[in-house]
Amino acid sequence: MNLILLGPQGSGKGTQAELLVQKYGLNYVEMGKILRSIAESDNQYAKIVKEMIDKGELVPDEYVRLIAWDHINKQDKEKGWLFDGYPRSLEQYEYLEDMLRKFGKKIDWVVYLFISPEESIRRLSARRTCEKCGEIFNLVTNPPKNPEICDKCGGRLGQREDDQPGAIKRRLELFNERTKPILEKARQENILMEVNGERPIDIINDEIVQKLGQ
Ligand code: AMP
Repeated sequence: MNLILLGPQGSGKGTQAELLVQKYGLNYVEMGKILRSIAESDNQYAKIVKEMIDKGELVPDEYVRLIAWDHINKQDKEKGWLFDGYPRSLEQYEYLEDMLRKFGKKIDWVVYLFISPEESIRRLSARRTCEKCGEIFNLVTNPPKNPEICDKCGGRLGQREDDQPGAIKRRLELFNERTKPILEKARQENILMEVNGERPIDIINDEIVQKLGQ
């Protein structure tokens, strides 16, 4: 089974992704995390990737294409995939379709977790990320014991550059302009699953699992 999980920033994609990856034993491709680790490395694309992430812009497709191929091609093709934060444009979607076709696979579901723009801003403003291990907390929905210290590794918690108000607004605009057309395509292909993301984690997960099983 190959799933794409889409939703505006703060929709809870990461949380649902972890649950689904565990339940179905899928390969997990979390493009935001892959790109952030490239930004911090000595990779030849580090500078441009970091610049785009910090501004809240999308990393250009030509880089994402190479990075996606490099990553996905190394994974066990029989396990299936869960794609989180990728694809984010129609071009990336079509490239992913081509890539999967080469492996004799296809996209089975596009799961769209929807939340309002106000909720997205509220959740991202409360998000804190560990500067050492990358663990993500939310001061409202998933608070650490100490708001400044990571429960997992003791590192310092900070607010990501792209979780600042200006960058959040830009990321939401980009979601509407570049990512939403994927939903239309998935609807035409009859593989779109729309799920209300403004509910408790377990209720959302139950609904997705039940629909996947149909
Ligand atoms: P995320 O953690 O998913 O919010 O991603 C953080 C940032 O990484 C985004 O704001 C973009 O700058 C970049 N990014 C993540 N996924 C993609 C993608 N599929 N295409 C282009 N840029 C991406």
